[in-house]
Amino acid sequence: MNSRRSKGSSSASSAAAAAAAAAASAESERRAREIRDLQSAEESNKRCFDCGQRGPTYVNVTVGSFVCTRCSGTLRGLNPPHRIKSLSMSSFTADEVAMMRGRGNAWARKVYLGLYDSNRAAFDLKDAEGVRDFMIEKYEKRRYYVDPSTIVHTPAATTNGSSSAAASNSSSSFQKSSSTTTNLIGATLNARLASSSSSSAAVASSNNPSTPAAGPLGVALPQPPSSSISRYGG
Ligand SMILES: [Zn+2]
Repeated sequence: MNSRRSKGSSSASSAAAAAAAAAASAESERRAREIRDLQSAEESNKRCFDCGQRGPTYVNVTVGSFVCTRCSGTLRGLNPPHRIKSLSMSSFTADEVAMMRGRGNAWARKVYLGLYDSNRAAFDLKDAEGVRDFMIEKYEKRRYYVDPSTIVHTPAATTNGSSSAAASNSSSSFQKSSSTTTNLIGATLNARLASSSSSSAAVASSNNPSTPAAGPLGVALPQPPSSSISRYGG
């Protein structure tokens, strides 16, 4: 009892003494917490954007996505390298928090996999080589890339009841920028949809000669090992 009481008063005085130093790290901690809140606010952020593994532990601040440990290493090795930050160890800038507020894995899918045809044969995302090949298609060649100004995206953070005062404080500046984005979207979406659907069909047919289809009569087509393959769009 005694020791608990004296510990309480001494920690109060030391907290006062350290207040100035703590202010900076409190701000940094607040930003890190907001990034984690953004992750838990949206179901798609709970899986690695690049391979689908549960429980991403890194943020890809180049893309604005949440990724797993393995993919974070691969992303750092791309050309040009992506900038990766640990969810638990890193400090985030205000700009990075603002970016993540408007992005996340659902956004990244619409942009970096916007032209990806989910019906085409999937890359084997359990195989490190396959994941890397797919990243090169996605990021270096930008094969499925769609201009972000042409997509419709509503971050979960805007509708989710905010868990902290800090998050709701900063949401007003976000809503301002989000409404300008929305205006842009309406203007160009229809034209974009028309062109993207035709080009994604072209990508699919040129890259996927082995689309499962009716084979020659009487010949059984080999079945893909679907149990070992995860697929985007599923
Ligand atoms: Zn991953």
